[in-house]
Amino acid sequence: MGLIIKNGNIITSKNEYIADILVEDEKIVAIGKDLDIKGHEVVDANDKFVFPGGVDEHVHYNSFNSLGYETSHAALAGGTTTVGDFVVQPVGVGLKDSIINYKKDYLDEKATPDYVLHGIIMDPSEETVADLVNMPSVGVSSVKLFMAYKGMPYYVSDEWIFKALCTGKKAGVTIMVHAENADIIDVLTKKLIAEGKTEPKYFGDSRPVLSEAEATSRAIYMAEIANAPLFVVHVTNQKTAEIIRDAYNKGLSTYGETCTHYLMLNDENLAKPNFEGAKYVCNPPLRPQSDVNFMWEAINKGWLTSVGSDHCAIMGGFAEGKRKGINDFSKIPPGSPGVQDRLNMIWTYGVETGKITRQKFVEVCCTTPAKVCGIYPQKGEIAVGTDADIVVFDPNYRGTVKLEDSLSSSDYCTYDGFEIKGIAEKVYLRGKLVAQNGKFVGELGKGQQVMSKPYAYCYDKFKE
Ligand SMILES: [Zn+2]
Repeated sequence: MGLIIKNGNIITSKNEYIADILVEDEKIVAIGKDLDIKGHEVVDANDKFVFPGGVDEHVHYNSFNSLGYETSHAALAGGTTTVGDFVVQPVGVGLKDSIINYKKDYLDEKATPDYVLHGIIMDPSEETVADLVNMPSVGVSSVKLFMAYKGMPYYVSDEWIFKALCTGKKAGVTIMVHAENADIIDVLTKKLIAEGKTEPKYFGDSRPVLSEAEATSRAIYMAEIANAPLFVVHVTNQKTAEIIRDAYNKGLSTYGETCTHYLMLNDENLAKPNFEGAKYVCNPPLRPQSDVNFMWEAINKGWLTSVGSDHCAIMGGFAEGKRKGINDFSKIPPGSPGVQDRLNMIWTYGVETGKITRQKFVEVCCTTPAKVCGIYPQKGEIAVGTDADIVVFDPNYRGTVKLEDSLSSSDYCTYDGFEIKGIAEKVYLRGKLVAQNGKFVGELGKGQQVMSKPYAYCYDKFKE
């Protein structure tokens, strides 16, 4: 017996149409008008939208002080069926081995949504860089390097970024960068703290827009010299987005994402009294509203390709985690939960306000992230043969984001109090109902790794 989702208004990144979807054995096997319902379970999707399960290309579990996969069902409650998790390479461990170990230690039977893995270079060396070509054999085709964080183990110098770009290209591995100028941040942070400017609101001053723009253009130059593609994660501001756009228009394979919080929140959140601003400390920092407005334009015009959540629910939450920085903003663990609210926020504040179309919503939240991660069309698409990751969306729902509905196990919710229009009424992961009206109804730990294929989206120009 299969499942028929009947009469839904199907939205893809390209078009929308009313049809039935037949699901069998975890896959979409037919799409059409008036499919024969005999012997199948029928879900009436009349007056509902039906779109691919969300793909969140940027989340953090089990690393950087974050909670682990025991909280990952939060993604499904919000309509995201696949997450892209970053695997930290411990010092002294090979890059490929870091993936194998992570799967053993953290993943088997623990992840609830499906997941695709990205690597992170933490121990730069000739061996590590040489190992980049082996990553596709463990289902990984994107590896991130941190230009920020001077003095931390995950800081890498330009030498290693350039070498990674050159070697990654040989195997179709996409190099991702966290682009901020580490030295500028280091100097400014020390200066601010020495002046007694220790509150969260100074965090933004320690990491100016231009330090992000500078590092981004430096990375783009390195990618151009290496003749390799580049993906810039979590772009926050107009200046940096324009640099990426202009490089792309010049013919370079330069892409960038932004994140939910850079579309929804601004630097005033950091200035909230009673240390509340610490909840919104993330890297790079929240920017002024003018940049927020530009981020919407950037995704709408395709200057930035996608919206990730950069979900990072800090252990100990606000009360015990974030408070570590009560006397020094630079000691506040950066990151906040966001995987559950991404689709709601982008739909309500993007689609419902007319900033973006429904097609664009699917493109930036589902389809393009799947392409960037090398898992398209298995994920991020509604078509015959794809995984039956499907959201049946009720656009008439009205509600509010509340901490009590959050499954991220934090003591605060980044979007607490935001009104939402519409809800993921039913969420299917490979044909199984896993969430209903914002509540998780599935089985924990049933997520599977989606093997990423090399030469993904960021290599498109090299295939022409
Ligand atoms: Zn991140």
